[in-house]
Formats: sequence, C-alpha cells, structure tokens
Amino acid sequence: MADDVVALLARLVAIDSANSSMDGPGEGDLAAEIAAIGQGLGFETSVEEVLPGRPNVTLVLPATHGGSKRRLLFDLHLDTVPHRGITDATIPRITGNRMHGRGTCDTKGSLAAAIIAARRVATGCPERVGEVMLLFTVDEEYLKRGVEHAVASGLHASAAIVGEPTSLRPIVAHKGAVRFRVTTHGRAAHTSRPENGDNAIHQMVEVIDWLRERIEPAIAMRGHPRLSPPTMTIGTISGGTGVNIVPDRCVIEIDRRSLPTEDPDAILAEFDAVLQDLMRARPAVKVTREEPFLVERGLDGPADGDLVTAVQAAIRAVDGDAADVTPTGVPYGTDASHLWGGSGIPTVVLGPGDIAQAHTADEWVDLDEVRRCADIYERLMTSFVVGDWGSSL
Ligand SMILES: [Zn+2]
Repeated sequence: MADDVVALLARLVAIDSANSSMDGPGEGDLAAEIAAIGQGLGFETSVEEVLPGRPNVTLVLPATHGGSKRRLLFDLHLDTVPHRGITDATIPRITGNRMHGRGTCDTKGSLAAAIIAARRVATGCPERVGEVMLLFTVDEEYLKRGVEHAVASGLHASAAIVGEPTSLRPIVAHKGAVRFRVTTHGRAAHTSRPENGDNAIHQMVEVIDWLRERIEPAIAMRGHPRLSPPTMTIGTISGGTGVNIVPDRCVIEIDRRSLPTEDPDAILAEFDAVLQDLMRARPAVKVTREEPFLVERGLDGPADGDLVTAVQAAIRAVDGDAADVTPTGVPYGTDASHLWGGSGIPTVVLGPGDIAQAHTADEWVDLDEVRRCADIYERLMTSFVVGDWGSSL
C-alpha cells in the first residue's frame, strides 16, 4: 500500500462535489463515499444533513481509555468550486509528480491525507487517551454553512486542524469577511421627463465615491502582526429596468475583508455612520443598508502553545529540521473562522498544495506534498492520542 494516499485522492477527485449553490451537483455523492469508507475502516461514522441532499460527515477514531473528553478535530470541506466548461475536471490525471483535476488541491489532497493518517493511527495506536474526529463539511466555498451548522450543534474540540492548501506551512491567522447590500431609493419616471423622477443610479455614484473616500483610507491604517490591512471591494452593482425609465432602485454588494481583531458589528456601524454623514451632507441621497448575508470572524490563533508546537514538531519530523515552520497569516478565509469564532477552538490551517492552484482551470497538487501531509497528520494524531500534548488546552 505504498501509494494508498494517491489512490484515495484519485478516487475522491473522480466524484464530482462542486458546490450546488454555485452550479454543481453538490456534496451528496462524495459524502456517501466518505461515510462508506469510514464504515469500512470501522470508524464511528455519522451523516447529518445540513442542506437538502448535502450532509456533513464525521468519522471518529475514539479514545480507548477513561472517558476522555480530549478531541483533536480535522475539518475538511467536501465541496469544490464549479468547473464549468472544463470537460476533464473530474478525471484525475497524473503527469510527473502532479495530479490534475478539480479539487486535487482545494481540498481533496487534505481529505485523502487525513483519512489515510487516521487509518494508520487506528492500527498503529491501539491505546488512545484522546480521540480523533474527521469532520467533512459542506458549503465551504460559498457560505460555510456546513461548519456553521456543526458549531451551532455544539461541536467541541481541544484543538483543530483545517485542511486547506498551505504548502504544508502552519497558518495561524487569516482574515474574516462581512458581506452586505446597500440600496439607494429613487423614483421612476419616463426619461422624456427625467426631472419628474429621482435617479437611484446617480445617487449610488455618490454613495460609492463617499464610501471609497472615507472607508478605504481609514481601514488601510489598521494593522495585524501577520496580516495585511483590511480591504473593501464593491463586487456587484445592479439598478434600472430599462433605458427609457429613470431607475428607482440601485443595489451594490460590498465585500469587507476584516482583521480577526475587528468586531463585525463595529464594521457595520462604521459603514452606517459614514452613510448617515452622507445623507446629512446630501439630503437628496436616500440609502439603506441590509443586514449582512455573510459574517466570518477570521482566525487569530496563538502563534505558540501546545497545538502550534505539536504541528511544528510533526512537520520537522517529516520534512527535516530545515523546514520552515514559522506560523504565518493569509488573506483568504477558511472554515477556521467558525471554529475559532472569536476565541473558541485553537486552530491551525495546514494542508498540501499551493493556494495559487486552487480554483484555477488547471488545478493540480504536488503528490509528494500529499504523501508528506499524510505523514505529518499521522504524527500529529499519534502524538495527541498517546497524550503527548493537548491536556492543557
Ligand atoms: Zn478550500
């Protein structure tokens, strides 16, 4: 079974699990396959529907001693981004040391590594004082409703690893996000008499200028030891129903990438204050903000402590003492937003593959990294279940 991890990766890539909120078939088939694998390996396996036909799956390798509540969690997302127009996206292809295909990098390499590692620990460590849980979540690529559901259902863990492409470097901080809509309200009229109307698109031009002039410089000043400053992007705009009708409504969607030290409520209050100022200065502008449709806190785990030390030791044991194990930060988000959630489960993001390959038309992963990740996960699980670390978490 020298290349069991590569064989498993190919099997997972061949099952299309593109997010069904984003033009894919959904995670159902892959969830069923993972559950079958878990049952075949004798893990405690459970399937819980989060969205219709879209369940989270958990595989547990239980402790054998003393009712231990210690748990090391691996969070791995089942979904991939869509692969519109890429005809061979779900045909795993190996060229040299790479496997190509949708999800190879983001993040089925992590899934395969975690399953193989847990299988090895099940046979290699028959005496366990802590348990390992693999949580396979739906909807990470869209609204992260899988992990959100698990946390809302009372998920607990002593520590967590989120499997995502980090090139096997430990990520201890990443940004969060707040996404919401802002609407301007006008009055429709025939464009032969535009003076009878109130143009909501013209109002929105003022809103956009005002927000960019006031929010962007303010947030660019904010810092974090491992992250770049917050950003604001206006990602969509829509308004008007016809070229000969004065538009009565215009809507923008704002993506505000936040530092994990920023409170989402304070972020929204800052926008509200700026919009109030605008309406005072320009009474003709009538603008409202909707409640956010996405709020993620980000991750700001400690850069030292039991979990990080254990992760660093596992990486060094596999990659040698020269391996770069410096805890770092990244701008993108992961399921860790919900696990950490402001101060909850200590979490490190760690997995094979380069984030630059994720979501691309020619997605691939370095197979040697996937194999080494299985070794690193195995060491981490082993050191936890034998009680080397984690009791102080
Ligand atoms: Zn991912």
